[in-house]
Amino acid sequence: MPSIKRIHIIGGGLAGPEAALQAASFGCQVVLSEMRPLRSTEAHQTADFAELVCSNSLKSESDNTAPWLLKQEMRRARSFLLQAADATAVPAGHALAVDRVEFSRRVAELIASQPRIQVRREEVTSLNTPEDVITVLASGPLTSSALAAELQRLTGAEHLAFYDSISPIVDAGSIDMDKVYFAARWDKGSADYLNCPLTRQEYEAFLDALTTAETVQAHSWDQPPSDPSHLSDHSLPAPLAYFEGCLPIEETARRGRDTLRFGPMKPAGLTNPKTGRWPYAAVQLRKENLRADSYNLVGFQNHLRFGEQARVLRMIPGLEHATFLRYGQIHRNTYINAPSLLRETLQLRAHPGILIAGQLSGVEGYTESIACGLLAGRYAAALAHGLQPTPTPRLTAHGSLIHYITHADPKRFQPANITFDLLPPLDDQLRRRIRDKKERHRIQCERALAAWNQWLASAAQPITASSFTPPGACSSASA
Ligand SMILES: Cc1cc2nc3c(=O)[nH]c(=O)nc-3n(C[C@H](O)[C@H](O)[C@H](O)COP(=O)(O)OP(=O)(O)OC[C@H]3O[C@@H](n4cnc5c(N)ncnc54)[C@H](O)[C@@H]3O)c2cc1C
Repeated sequence: MPSIKRIHIIGGGLAGPEAALQAASFGCQVVLSEMRPLRSTEAHQTADFAELVCSNSLKSESDNTAPWLLKQEMRRARSFLLQAADATAVPAGHALAVDRVEFSRRVAELIASQPRIQVRREEVTSLNTPEDVITVLASGPLTSSALAAELQRLTGAEHLAFYDSISPIVDAGSIDMDKVYFAARWDKGSADYLNCPLTRQEYEAFLDALTTAETVQAHSWDQPPSDPSHLSDHSLPAPLAYFEGCLPIEETARRGRDTLRFGPMKPAGLTNPKTGRWPYAAVQLRKENLRADSYNLVGFQNHLRFGEQARVLRMIPGLEHATFLRYGQIHRNTYINAPSLLRETLQLRAHPGILIAGQLSGVEGYTESIACGLLAGRYAAALAHGLQPTPTPRLTAHGSLIHYITHADPKRFQPANITFDLLPPLDDQLRRRIRDKKERHRIQCERALAAWNQWLASAAQPITASSFTPPGACSSASA
C-alpha cells in the first residue's frame, strides 16, 4: 500500500484548524503550526485557536440568504468549527453569533482530542517542504512578515497584496435606469459602462457630503504607514502606503474641489444622449464580470462608515435607491492574487503541493475562511492519499466562492464575501417567469444544496477507523 503523505498546516486561526480537523478525519497525520503566543499579530489578543479578532458574528441564519446557504453546506459536510459555533451560539436575532471564549475552547478541545494532529507553537518562515508533505498555508490576513516575504519569493512580489482597497458594489436591479446611460468614453470600444451624470449643483452637494462624512475609526495597525521605511516587524515586506491609485475617494476629494472631476468622476468624452453634452461630472459603474446582476462604482474605494456610505452614495443620480451588495473598504489584508496563482482545488499552480486557505486566498470573512479551510483540508487529504481532488461544483456557495477567486480578472482582483451575485444566475426563461427575488434565491439555494449533496455523496467519507474509505469517486471525483 503506498504511504500516505503528511500534511503541514500553517496557521491556527479559522481556516487552519478546520483544515487540520478535516484532514485528520480522513486519516491523515497533521502538524498544525501556530506562531502565537511566541509572536502575535496586530489584531489577535490571545494564544487561542480560532480567535475571532473582531465581531463575534458568523452572519445571517435567515433561510435562503447567501451566508445561510454557505453554512448549510458546511453543516452537511460536518464542518468542525461550525459545529463548535452552533454549540456556543448566543442570541443574536437572525445571525449566528458565538461566545468567542467558549468557541475557541471547543475548537481547542476538538484539536486536542484528535490524536492525528500534532500542534507546534512556532513561526514558520520557510515553504521549502519535503516531497512527502502537503502544505496548507492558512496564515491569514496578518501573515507574519517573514512568511509573507517567503510567499513573495515563491509566487512573485506582484502577486501578494497587503491592503484591501474595495469599491462598493450595487445591485443592478436597484439602479434607476431612467437617470443613467450606457456610454464608452469618446465612443471608443463597447459601451459597457453605466454613467451617472451630475450637474454642478449635484456635484458640489455630493462633495460637501463626502468630505464631511464620518470615517471608520482605524486602529493604528490598520493605518497604512505614511513612511514605509518606518515599518515595524508587524510590517510588510514591500513598501506600502496607500497606492496613489487606491486612495480613498474622500481623501482625493479633500485635495481640491475639482480633483474628483479630473479623477474618478471625469466626465470628458461621456456624451449624455439626453442632452448631447458631457455632464459636469460622472460616476461610472462597471459590470462585475463574474458577479451577475451587479455593478462596481469605479474608483470609489473609501473608508467611510457603512451607514454614511449609503447616505452619501445615494446622492448620486440613479443610485437614490441603490441596494449595496458590498460597501467600500480599505484595510490591512494580506492576500494572494488567486486568479493568477490558484487552481480550483486551492493548490498553487506552480507548486501543487502547497494549498492556500482562508483569508490569504482572497475569501473574506470568518465563515468564508472556515469554509475555505474545510475544502483545503479535504483536498489536502485526497492529495496525501495520492488522489487528485475534484473541485466542488460551481452551483454551490463553496464552488461559487472558489470560482470567483480563481476566475476573476487578475488585474482587478479584490477579496469577496459570499453573496448571491457570485452564484450562477437562473436561466433567462426562469428569470422572466419568476419576478420575486426571494423566490429566485430560494431556487438558487435548492439547486446549490442538491449539487453539494451530490458532491459529498460522490466523495470519500471521513474515517473513524484506521483506513481511508476507498474513494471510488476520488480519482475522478472529490476528496
Ligand atoms: C482586524 C480584523 C478584523 C476582522 N473582523 C472581521 C469580522 O468582524 N468579521 C468577519 O467575518 N471577518 C473579519 N475579519 C476578516 C477575517 O475573516 C478574519 O481575519 C479571519 O480570522 C480569517 O481567518 P484565517 O484563518 O484566514 O486567518 P486568521 O484567523 O488570522 O488565522 C491565521 C493564523 O495564522 C497565524 N500565523 C500568521 N503567520 C504565521 C507564521 N508565519 N507561522 C505560524 N503561524 C502564523 C496567526 O497567528 C493566526 O493565528 C477581520 C480581519 C481583521 C484583520
